[in-house]
Amino acid sequence: MTPRSRSNIFLAIATIVFVLQANTQAADKPKTKSEDKPKKIIRALIIDGQNNHDWKSTTPLLKQALESSGRFKVDVATAPGAKEDNSNFKPRFSDYKVVISNYNGKRWPESTEKGFAGYVANGGGFVTVHAADNSFPGWPEYNRIIGVGGWEGRTEKSGPRLYLDDQSDVVRDKSPGRGGHHGQQHEFQIRSRDTHHPVTRGIPALWLHTKDELYDSLRGPAESLHVLATAYSDPNQGGTGHNEPVLMTIEYGKGRVFHTVLGHADYSMNCVGFVTTFTRGAEWAATGEVTIPVPGNFPTADKSSPTK
Ligand code: ZN
Repeated sequence: MTPRSRSNIFLAIATIVFVLQANTQAADKPKTKSEDKPKKIIRALIIDGQNNHDWKSTTPLLKQALESSGRFKVDVATAPGAKEDNSNFKPRFSDYKVVISNYNGKRWPESTEKGFAGYVANGGGFVTVHAADNSFPGWPEYNRIIGVGGWEGRTEKSGPRLYLDDQSDVVRDKSPGRGGHHGQQHEFQIRSRDTHHPVTRGIPALWLHTKDELYDSLRGPAESLHVLATAYSDPNQGGTGHNEPVLMTIEYGKGRVFHTVLGHADYSMNCVGFVTTFTRGAEWAATGEVTIPVPGNFPTADKSSPTK
C-alpha cells in the first residue's frame, strides 16, 4: 500500500464516521423548517417625540417587546417638540424593514413626508400604534397608509366610518358624523375575524385584553384594508354598540401596514395579547411572514394576562 492510498483509506473512514455522526445528530434533534434558514435580525425604527399620550413611557415598552422576541434590532427617531423647528427631522427610512409610529403631532418636513410615503409604496413595512392614527388628518397619503383614523377634525369627508356586523361583514357607513371616539377605559374581549392570517393564526378566537381605550367611529379611505380582529363597543361603557376594528392590515403599493388601535398606556401595552399581536404584526409588516410564537400564557376569553 502506497502512502497515498493509505491516506485515501483514512480519508474514506473519516468521512464515513463523520456522516454517521451527522446522521445520529440529525436523528437526535429533528430539524425544523426555521432551523434550515437562520432568521435574519429585522431592523426596526420607532418614531416618537410628540403625542397626546405618554410616549416617553410607552416607546421603551414597544422597543422592549420587539427586542425580547429575538427578531428585531430597534432604533428610535425622536422628532423635535411641537414648538421646535423640525426641518432637520429626516430619518433614513430605507435603512429599516419596518417603521413603527408612536407619534401624534405636527406635520413633518415635505421631503420627509414624501420619503416616508415612497418608502412604504416601495415595500417598506409600517405599524401604527394607538394614537398614531390620530396624526396627520390633512395628509392624504398618510391616511391611505393607515386606512382609517380618528379625531383632529376627521369627519365623513375623511372617508366612511368602519365597523363590523356579527357576520364579519365590514360596514362602510358614509353618513355624516365625527371620526374617532372612545368610551371609558376597561378590559374588553378581542375577537379574531381572520384566523388564517399569519398575524392571528394560532391566537384564540376570543381573548381578554387588559385595560385600554376602545377606539370607535374611525374613518378614512380604507382602501385595501383587511380587518383581523374587532372588539364589541359596549354602550354600557360609553361605546357604540358596534364591533369596532382593533387590528387591521392595509396594502399600500408594495408595502404592508399593520394597524393596532390598542396601547393607550403602559398598562394597556403590558398585556401578553398586545405584545404578541404587536410583535407578530411588525414581523409580518417587515417580511410578510410570522415566526414569533403565540406564548402559553396568552390571555383567554375571560382572563386577561398582564406581562407583569
Ligand atoms: Zn388613548
